[in-house]
Amino acid sequence: MAKLQCRDYGFDCDFVVEGEVESVITQFGNHTNDEHGIEYSKEALMQIILRKS
Ligand SMILES: [Zn+2]
Repeated sequence: MAKLQCRDYGFDCDFVVEGEVESVITQFGNHTNDEHGIEYSKEALMQIILRKS
């Protein structure tokens, strides 16, 4: 299980995604791209998840 939330990255946003790593990466990536115009690579998000766990 993994969890990513926008607040951790300084966004004024309540978006939180939790679940399987692959699904968290996909959903968080889509959200930051669509809502914040910032594109994180899958590798970058994977590193963030690994560092937190
Ligand atoms: Zn957000």
